[in-house]
Amino acid sequence: MREIPHWNLDQLYAPDSPALKSDLAALDEQAARFARWRERLAADITPADFTRLVAELEDVHRLAHRLSGYAALAFAQNTQDQKALAFMAKMDEKMADLGNELLFFEIWWKELPEEKAAPLIAAAPDFAYWLRRTRALRPHTLPEEQEKIVNLKDVTGREALIALYDSITNRYRYRTDFVPGGDGREVTRDELMVRVRSDQPEVRAGAYRELYRVYAQDGPILGQIYQTAVRDWRVENIRLRHYDSPQAVRHKANDLPPEAVAALLKVARERAPLFGEFFKLKAKALNIKLRRYDLYAPLTADDQTVSFEDGVTEVLEAFGAFSPRFRELAAAIIDGRRFSARPQPGKQGGAFCYSMLPTDLPWVLMTYNGRRQDLFTMAHELGHGLHSQLAKEHNLFHFHATLPLAETASTFGEMLLADRLMKRAASNRERANMLFHLLDDAYATIGRQAFFAMFEIQAHEMIENGATVDELADAYHQNLAEQFADAVDLTDEFRWEWVSIPHIFHTPFYVYAYSFGQLLVYSLWRQYEKEGPAFVPRLTALLAKGGSAPPETILRESGLGPLDEKFWQGGFEVIEKMLTDLKALL
Ligand SMILES: [Zn+2]
Repeated sequence: MREIPHWNLDQLYAPDSPALKSDLAALDEQAARFARWRERLAADITPADFTRLVAELEDVHRLAHRLSGYAALAFAQNTQDQKALAFMAKMDEKMADLGNELLFFEIWWKELPEEKAAPLIAAAPDFAYWLRRTRALRPHTLPEEQEKIVNLKDVTGREALIALYDSITNRYRYRTDFVPGGDGREVTRDELMVRVRSDQPEVRAGAYRELYRVYAQDGPILGQIYQTAVRDWRVENIRLRHYDSPQAVRHKANDLPPEAVAALLKVARERAPLFGEFFKLKAKALNIKLRRYDLYAPLTADDQTVSFEDGVTEVLEAFGAFSPRFRELAAAIIDGRRFSARPQPGKQGGAFCYSMLPTDLPWVLMTYNGRRQDLFTMAHELGHGLHSQLAKEHNLFHFHATLPLAETASTFGEMLLADRLMKRAASNRERANMLFHLLDDAYATIGRQAFFAMFEIQAHEMIENGATVDELADAYHQNLAEQFADAVDLTDEFRWEWVSIPHIFHTPFYVYAYSFGQLLVYSLWRQYEKEGPAFVPRLTALLAKGGSAPPETILRESGLGPLDEKFWQGGFEVIEKMLTDLKALL
C-alpha cells in the first residue's frame, strides 16, 4: 500500500544551505540595483528602457516569491518549528522592507499622465493588463496630500471602528445551559455553532437562540457601528473619490462590469424558490417541518473511509475522464513530491495550493484522514494546481487568476469528482446523500451569499436615507422571509443575523464573490453537459489565460461568456437537475 505522501521542500532550499544564503544576498542586491531606476524615472523614460525596468522588477519579485514562499511552506509543515517560525518572521520583515523599497515605481506609474503611459504599455504588451490594472484606480485617487490625510485618519477612524466591532464580538461567550443537554460551560461561537449541526432538534434551536440572544443584546451598538462604517464608505468613495455607487468600488477591484454582477443577483433572486424546493425535500427526508434552525441538520453520518491510494485514484480518474492533460498536471504535483497529505504533528490545518512561480510546479498541503470530504479537498487543491500550470506561459504578474476566476479550476475539479462518485455509487441512498451535500453547498455559497449581497446594497441605500438600526433589522428579516418563503419557518431572532456577519463590516460587498465563483462553475458545467468533448479545449483555454485580462474578456475569448442573465440561468439549471435527480431517489 502506498504511504500518504509528504512533500520534499529541499527541492526549494535545504535549511541553512549556501543556496539559501546566497539567494537572500542576491535579493538585497537586485533590490538595490532596481532602486537606481528612481532617478531615471524623473526624466522621460524611453519605451526600451521601460521594458528593461519591468523585466527587472519581475526578476526581483520572482526571487522574493521563492524565498518568502519557502518560509511559508516550512512554517506550514510544522508550525511548532521555532527555526521555521523565526525564518518566516525574518522574511515577513524583509518583504515589508522590499515593498517600501520598490514602492517608488508604483507611485510614479500611477501618477503618470495617460499620454505618457500609453506608449510605454504598448512597448511591454506581455505586461499590459497588470500595468493597466495598477493604474485603474487613478481616476479615483486623490492628490497625494489628501491621500495621506485619509490614510492617517483611517487608522483612528474606520479601522479603529471595525477593530472595536471585532473586540466586542470576539469577547462573546455563549451559555450552554440554554441548550438542552448543555453542561453549563461557556463556549465560543465556533463551539456553539457545532451544535447547529446536532441531530437533536432542541439543541439546534437552542444554539441559534443563544447566538442571537447575545448579538441582540448589543444589536443597537453593533448596528450603530455598521451605520457609521457605511456612512464613512459613502463619504469617502462617492463624495471624495467619485465612484457612482457604493458597490462600484468592489466591482472595480474585481475588474467586473457592474451589469454582470447585477445579472447574477437578479437571477439568484428569481431562482430562490429552487432552494425552497430543496428545503422541502430536506424536510421530507428528516420527516419534520423545516425551521430555520434545521438548515444544517444532518441526514446520515458519513463514516465510510477511503484509503489514500483509492482516494488519489478517484480524483485522478475523475480528472482524466475530462481531459488526460488535467490528469497529467495533477499527477505531476504528487509525483514531483510537491504534495503533503500526511497527517503530522504541528502541521497547519486546512488546505492550500501555493503557486510561487509560473515556471515551478505548485505546492499543495492538506491532511488526508480518509474521509469523503478529504477527496473533495484533494480535487479542489489539485484543481488550483493544474490551473496555474496551464497558465505558466504568462509572466509572474499575469499567471495567477484574479479573484472572480480564482476558484474556477478548483470548483470544477470538485464537480468532476462528484460526477464520478455519483456514477459509481453503490446505492441510491449513497447517491441521495451526495446530492444533499452538493445542494447544501450550493445553497450556502450561491443562495445565501447572494441574499447577503442584496441586503448590503439595500442597507447602504437605507442608511443614506437615515434608516434606524431597527429598520435595518426589519429589512434583514424581510430579506430572509423572501428567501425562504413558505419552505422554512423563520423566527424573530434571525433579524439580528446581519450584525453577526464580519464580512459586511470588514470588506463591503465582498460576499458576492462566493456566489459568483460557484455559479460560474455551475454554468460552465452546464455547457460541458450540453457540448461534451467540444467544451474541453474551451475550459482549458480559459484556465491557460490565468490573470492576463479582465475576467469577462477571458470568458468571452474562450467562447464561454458573456456574463449575462442567460449565463447565470445556466448555473441554476444544474441545481434544478440535481433537485430532479434527488426527487427521483427519495
Ligand atoms: Zn480554493
